[in-house]
Amino acid sequence: MVSVLPTEEGNVAVVVRVRPQTQQEQEGSRHAVVQVIDDSMLVFDPEEPCLSGVFTGFRGHDAPKRRGKDLKFVFDQVFGESATQEEVFQHTTKELLDGVLNGYNCSVFAYGATGAGKTYTMLGSEKSPGIMYLTMVELYKRIEARMEEKSCEVLISYQEVYNEQIHDLLEPKGPLAIREDPEKGVVVQGLSFHQPKSAEQLLEMLASGNRNRTQHPTDANATSSRSHAVFQIYVKQQDRVVGITQDVQVAKMSLIDLAGSERASTTNTKGERLREGANINRSLLALINVINALADAKSRKSHIPYRDSKLTRLLKDSLGGNCRTIMIAAISPSALAYEDTYNTLKYANRAK
Ligand code: ADP
Ligand code: MG
Repeated sequence: MVSVLPTEEGNVAVVVRVRPQTQQEQEGSRHAVVQVIDDSMLVFDPEEPCLSGVFTGFRGHDAPKRRGKDLKFVFDQVFGESATQEEVFQHTTKELLDGVLNGYNCSVFAYGATGAGKTYTMLGSEKSPGIMYLTMVELYKRIEARMEEKSCEVLISYQEVYNEQIHDLLEPKGPLAIREDPEKGVVVQGLSFHQPKSAEQLLEMLASGNRNRTQHPTDANATSSRSHAVFQIYVKQQDRVVGITQDVQVAKMSLIDLAGSERASTTNTKGERLREGANINRSLLALINVINALADAKSRKSHIPYRDSKLTRLLKDSLGGNCRTIMIAAISPSALAYEDTYNTLKYANRAK
């Protein structure tokens, strides 16, 4: 596989991950609407139906008569449903670690509709931990390897942007304010920082932080998530040279599990929830606009609308400029998610 690293400053690398169909989806509709061709190309709504994401090529009597959109998409990388957490990590976030250790901020975010596999990719499960965990393990490994030349301190924070408010997920308290510090960059006032002592403790922190995310079990879709979860890793380094005071280099990596990109209008749109929906769209739409502006070579030097939402203000020093960004677009191959998948692919294609 080739490197997915963005080649130019400010560029965004875009990868797509297709998750396996769930039991329910397989029962509800046998054919998949996404066909992975190779590690950089997929076809949405192929002319020939495919089963479970794998092209079968059957033309027998029972082949459904249909002509799909048959749209080819090319991305920096396409991960099929059999891709492991380790593979996704190896070919995306792992490549950004060098940048962080060289003092550059960078970010990775999972975009997609609710149920498409964002949280699985970023957080994962106890059995198959995702990018947040794998990144920390790799980071510790690299720091360990150069212990003699550099002293290094790693801190983490985990926060959510929900309803245009920032909340600490590790030490929940009232909403937190953002300010910009000329030296430190974006600062969230009162945010707690932690130093996990072991891999197990980190997993425990991530899981408990995730349980603190705002969920609405009364909704039609109990697993729907309107909150953006932002996991940040701060790396502070100093050369170990006896007798000379060395500069301290600080860099930050942001790993973000975004709110569902499906339209808020499909759920309850009264009162509080309408406002909430509108605000979620505000942060998500603002991020979409920032990514689009960065992807558009001409506007790169002009105005990037960071100030339009809490999420983009929070990520202002982690997107664009010297920062490297990877967008992981998560999609379901099921015919039941046809519209969501189509919209996600269109957006991911635009972000390149
Ligand atoms: P989202 O966060 O985008 O709403 P989730 O990550 O919660 O979606 O995924 C929805 C369901 O699909 C979960 O039960 C999750 O465990 C499962 N799932 C998602 N991606 C994969 C994958 N690559 N392999 C196996 N199961 C997955
Ligand atoms: Mg989720």
